[in-house]
Amino acid sequence: MSKKYIFVVGGVMSSVGKGVATASIGTILKSKGFHVTALKADPYINIDAGTMNPTEHGEVFVTKDGDECDQDMGNYERFIGEDLTKMNYMTTGRIYQTVIEKERNLEYGGKCVEVVPHIPEEIIRRINAAVKKTKAEIAIIEIGGTVGEYQNLIFLEAARMMHRKNPRDVTFVLVSYLPIPSKVGEMKTKLTQTATRELNSCGIQPDFILCRAEHPIDDKRREKLATFCSIEPENAISAPDVDCIYDIPVNFEKEEFGNKILKQLHLKPRKKDLVEWRKFLGTVCDAKKELKIGIVGKYFETGSYVLSDSYISVIESVKIAPCTQGYCPKMVWLSSNEYETNPDKLNELKELDGVIVPGGFGSRGVEGKIAVAQYCRENKIPYFGLCYGMQIATIEFARNVCKLKGAHTEEIDPETPYPVIHIMPEQKSKLRHKDYGGSMRLGEYACKLQKGTVADSAYHKYEFPVSTDNIIMERHRHRYEVNNDYRAQLESCGLVVAGVNPDRNLVEIIEIKDHPFMVGTQFHPEFDSRPLRPQPLFMAFIKAAGEKSSK
Ligand code: GLN
Repeated sequence: MSKKYIFVVGGVMSSVGKGVATASIGTILKSKGFHVTALKADPYINIDAGTMNPTEHGEVFVTKDGDECDQDMGNYERFIGEDLTKMNYMTTGRIYQTVIEKERNLEYGGKCVEVVPHIPEEIIRRINAAVKKTKAEIAIIEIGGTVGEYQNLIFLEAARMMHRKNPRDVTFVLVSYLPIPSKVGEMKTKLTQTATRELNSCGIQPDFILCRAEHPIDDKRREKLATFCSIEPENAISAPDVDCIYDIPVNFEKEEFGNKILKQLHLKPRKKDLVEWRKFLGTVCDAKKELKIGIVGKYFETGSYVLSDSYISVIESVKIAPCTQGYCPKMVWLSSNEYETNPDKLNELKELDGVIVPGGFGSRGVEGKIAVAQYCRENKIPYFGLCYGMQIATIEFARNVCKLKGAHTEEIDPETPYPVIHIMPEQKSKLRHKDYGGSMRLGEYACKLQKGTVADSAYHKYEFPVSTDNIIMERHRHRYEVNNDYRAQLESCGLVVAGVNPDRNLVEIIEIKDHPFMVGTQFHPEFDSRPLRPQPLFMAFIKAAGEKSSK
């Protein structure tokens, strides 16, 4: 079959859930027997998401091959259950960078290099390269931003060009928002009509409109959209608000969205859909025992609002792992700064069944995090440290158990008498040369598990891929590491090194002895947990939290 392309674009406003819609289309089509991949086209000039502030842009997701990309890539991986690559993510900056490099190398053979067609052509080249690399039959491409913006025009132009060449192989989905103003009490379609017209002005006619709204759309609205937006009435698909995003593929299928897309692309389903997915959702519905999990961070506040987007993969991992064990997690956001100004607040941690200290950078709130780690260690509260959270636990242990007063990470205190966390040698010169972009230790690296540790038993128990010599592969994003000069001292006081990178002897996992669960990882296990394949360390953490809650 020829390769097929589904472009997903947003209308009316941002945050209507284009990413999850794109991912859900992927879930459905994969379950119907197709090899699927998903791409994100981000209108930013940034080369990658690594240099963006998480409170502004949300989490920086890391692919296996080390790309720092938009959080939607995490949604795609979780929903589709496929590893994506650098080629699946592009930004305006990346496109221009390549085109300019090619121009400098005389690869345009003396032609004038112009925004059109050279920029859209580079976009199309990347889409096709991603399809080739992932061996996909169908690619779903999410165009970032909202229709009507100046920023995403080049991506829409690429989509238009692809459709013009192969109209049978390309389809368009507009994800729009239909408000129900409280004083009017009726769902309004005008904004969607305007968004469709905007899209039409780019030479694109949507085949489907996903109607994001508080409620499902009714026949009257369907007819209106058909008349004013020139779509088939049955191609206006309801996308009502949901409590659990994993319900979305099933909701779409209530209106046979998958088969309608396949028909549009001249394909037929190959098998019955969403069998495994529905099984997973069954576990979510059956999960009744409540667990209180605290997430300690600092990337929550945005103006007067609280946004948890910066930790989305952690949050989704905390949703996925418990439900498969019958638990329903309640997450509590804990601002690390508050433990610095108000140490009494630490006592509130007793009410929690488990605490996660996720990844982070810089000094703000760091002493608060260290205080949390100490409290969890001393009061036997399950603690799971992810990257920075692991470094924090090590610092706390060095200070309070090994009595290394003033122990710290060089990231915060370059003059510390005990740099138990220090900069990786190759990172030193990168920082000196202000080489900040995409220069951390990124992507998948090996970790050899130490037999008999909590981590070792979790990876085996929950059937994650472990090689015969007990090696796992996990994703990274850091510049600092545990300083091996202190390893013997830390170990003699009861810190267990449960995993090491075999190539450079770098500490990957630590555990604290005689504690129900105090585990820290230098890698980010949250990037690899998926509904149909929960991550083993999250499973083990939740099990320990469950045991605490039933005490
Ligand atoms: N700031 C720490 C480092 O660079 C931790 C990074 C992280 O948590 N992703 O090593």
